Amino acid sequence: MASASQTKLLTELLNLESVKVTKYQNLPGIGLILHLEPLTRKASCDRCGQKSQKIHQNHRYLVKDLPMSGQPVYLEVNRRQFKCENCKKPFSEELNFVKKRRKYTSRLSTEIIRQVLADDIKTVAENNDVSSEEIETMLKDRAKELTREKPLGLRKLGID
Ligand SMILES: [Zn+2]
Repeated sequence: MASASQTKLLTELLNLESVKVTKYQNLPGIGLILHLEPLTRKASCDRCGQKSQKIHQNHRYLVKDLPMSGQPVYLEVNRRQFKCENCKKPFSEELNFVKKRRKYTSRLSTEIIRQVLADDIKTVAENNDVSSEEIETMLKDRAKELTREKPLGLRKLGID
């Protein structure tokens, strides 16, 4: 069992806002698994914007993060489902470091794209133990974000 000072140190090393490390495991041949819990008690409904703190259920799963000192790192995240008191429907919270339906952190995606731009997809996939398909998804997501970042007038011109 990890002590409070160990988890505090790991939270600092992890360097992600809005979460804390509660537990860790070092699995030989797999890597370091950090168990995370959100620091916030509330989340905003994605339909109406109402803030809620009524937890519907916890949803814990593993995502791949940047390696630490050459060791693979996986984060066990908890993307909680809240029940909106306004819509009466459950919604799942946004996490600012991993997108919904993605099995890797946004900063890992940024790092991999940086490598792809300097190398070919197959080599980068092997170096980071992710699939070429995942890299293609990262590139598509990034391209979508870049399109969204364009000024509105310009985007309209492009579509029409
Ligand atoms: Zn709502």
